[in-house]
Amino acid sequence: MAQLSLGSSPIYKAKFARSTIFDPKLKFLEIEQTQLGFWNSSKSNMALRLQASTEGVALVQETTETTPKLINDSSDSFTEMKNRFLSFKKHKYLENLERYQELAQAQAPKFLVISCADSRVCPSYILGFQPGEAFVVRNVANLVPPFENGPCETNAALEFSVTTLEVENILVTGHSCCGGIRALMSMEDEENSSSFIKNWVVVGKAAKSSTKATASNLSFDQQCKHCEKESINNSLLNLLTYPWVEERVAKGLLSLHGGYYNFVDCTYEKWTLDYQKSNPKQETGGYAIKNREFWS
Ligand SMILES: [Zn+2]
Repeated sequence: MAQLSLGSSPIYKAKFARSTIFDPKLKFLEIEQTQLGFWNSSKSNMALRLQASTEGVALVQETTETTPKLINDSSDSFTEMKNRFLSFKKHKYLENLERYQELAQAQAPKFLVISCADSRVCPSYILGFQPGEAFVVRNVANLVPPFENGPCETNAALEFSVTTLEVENILVTGHSCCGGIRALMSMEDEENSSSFIKNWVVVGKAAKSSTKATASNLSFDQQCKHCEKESINNSLLNLLTYPWVEERVAKGLLSLHGGYYNFVDCTYEKWTLDYQKSNPKQETGGYAIKNREFWS
């Protein structure tokens, strides 16, 4: 939090936001994970960045702040993207033409997936959802605001997928080393901020409160990890504040699930909200879970 008081210029704020969301300590992982998507097109860039990473986190951080990388030619990335699209068309679309023609007429996904915007946690890639199988909304820290907060893009997607598509499952899936949760945990209580990030992640303040209440003896990193899971359950409870969600859950037409992807050791934890034993009106920790599984 000390960093916030150091400056208020737009440039500084941009740097602060970057360093908060993309924790320098995660730099190595970020480099390795995010570059996977453009592995072939970015080999030279990758080599440079990895070389830098061997010289220490501080140097990597310093380099990114003092020598901004100008975006003057993205043709390599788009050439690779074009090739991938044409490959998709040839090997997936045209080889399954009937299926894709059906999808061109209508969609009937069984899942709404609410995932973090983090580039390392694409739910379709990790969980294997094929086109038409999951309606997906992604936001910073995979949060679901309560009904009383009013409209936003996340609950617009929620309304459409539940009331029109009639999905049978909602999966709120979080992940390890979440920068959004870290930003939430770093906030001062009652802090007024012009940061869009902070004004969004404060949606998870109940999870932060219960984390502080039950895990204050842990290190800050461990508290963040605790809050990453607590906020998922908080979002599951928030889902029940939407009348058309709770009505379907009560009738057994809709199930609410939590998921947690640990990309450090590649494990996935999955559980289901026990609606009968949960109480969304309880300020913190009013949830019960069942059918917990750990995939490793
Ligand atoms: Zn995240």
